[in-house]
Amino acid sequence: MSIAAIIVAAGRGTRAGGDLPKQWQLLCGKPVIWHTFNALRPHVNTIVVVLHPDDLTLWEETGLKADQITIGAATRDASVRAGLDALSHFAPDKVLIHDAARPLVSAKTINDVIQALNKYEGAAPAIPVTDALWTGENAEVTGTQNREGLFRAQTPQGFHFSAIYQAHMTLNEPAADDVAVARAAGVKVAIVQGDARNLKITTPDDFIRATNMLGNDMDVRVGNGYDVHRFGDGDHVWLCGVKVPHGRSLQGHSDADVGMHAVSDAIYGAIGMGDIGQHFPPSDPQWKGAESHVFLRHAVGLATENGYKISNVDCTLVCEYPKVGPHQPAMKAALAAIIGIGVDRISVKATTSERLGFTGREEGIAAIATAALVKS
Ligand code: MG
Repeated sequence: MSIAAIIVAAGRGTRAGGDLPKQWQLLCGKPVIWHTFNALRPHVNTIVVVLHPDDLTLWEETGLKADQITIGAATRDASVRAGLDALSHFAPDKVLIHDAARPLVSAKTINDVIQALNKYEGAAPAIPVTDALWTGENAEVTGTQNREGLFRAQTPQGFHFSAIYQAHMTLNEPAADDVAVARAAGVKVAIVQGDARNLKITTPDDFIRATNMLGNDMDVRVGNGYDVHRFGDGDHVWLCGVKVPHGRSLQGHSDADVGMHAVSDAIYGAIGMGDIGQHFPPSDPQWKGAESHVFLRHAVGLATENGYKISNVDCTLVCEYPKVGPHQPAMKAALAAIIGIGVDRISVKATTSERLGFTGREEGIAAIATAALVKS
C-alpha cells in the first residue's frame, strides 16, 4: 500500500505578522514548512508540495527534497486539486492532505489517520469543543450556542486517493476543507483524536506557542571521534592533556595528543561541523606544534555558539604502554577544565589490544571518543 502526502503551502497568509507568508517564517531557526515536511516524511512514500509561484526560491533555500513540486492557485480547493493532479502520476492508494502551517503534527496523529483509512474512505483529526460558545455582535454577547457534537478540525485529512480525487473533480461549490469536499461527494469521514499541540500557525502568538512547544523537545546529539598517532623518538607523550613520561613520543603536526583529538572530533561530529583537520589544516604552518587544548576549546566554543552544552564525554585510549591508570584522574580533570563541565561527566579509559595490530606492536596509540550534547 502506498501513502502520499500533499502539503498545501500556496497561501499568502500574513496575519502572523512579518514580511513573508507564515509557512516561510522561521520557527526555532527553520522555516515552518521545514518542520511540517520532516514531520510527514517518515510516514509516507511520496510528498507533493503545492507552492505559490513567488515562493520557488524560498523552497529551494529550505534544501528539502519533495517528490514533486506543483504550483497552486488562488483558492485552497484549487491548490489541493493541483496537488492531486500532480500526485495522480504516482497513483498512491491513500493520501494525507496537510496544511504547511501545522508544523507540530505528531507521529501519533499521522498514524491514527492512516490506521483509520483501513476502515474508512476518509479520516481526519479533530478535538471536541470544550469552551462555551457564544454568538455576538458589536462586542456584545447575543446568545449561546450548544457545543454538543462540535469539533475543531485539524489536518492531516486522509483519504483513499481515488475517492478524494473524484470528489474534488466533481466539486461545484466552495468547501471549508477537504473533509467538506469529500462529504459533498458522499464519502464517509471518521474522526480520530486530534492533538492540542497540532496548532495551525496563524497569529504572532501562535509562533510563540509553537516555539515553546518545539523548545521543550529535547535535542540530544551524539558524536564519535577516532584518532591514531605513531611513536617516534622522545621521552614523553601527551594524553588527554597530561604529560606522561614514556620511552618514546607520539609524532604529529601538533603535540599529538591522540585522546584530546578524538574528544575534539567527537564534539565536532555531534554538531555536524567537520573535524580538527578541517578547522586546523595540517598544511597550515601556524598549527605546527600546537597544543591540543586549542582544538578542544574551539570545538567546545562552536558547540556553545550553536546552543549546545556538552553533557558527557567518554574516551578510550588503546595502547600497551604507557600505563594510563595512574594518570586517569589528572586526564579527567584536564579535559573537564577545558570543556567546562564536571569531572563526573568525563570518562577516560584505557585498554590494550592484546598485543595485536599496530597498537599491540607498540607502533602507536589509538583513541576513540564519544560525546553527548544537549541543546540548552
Ligand atoms: Mg590527531
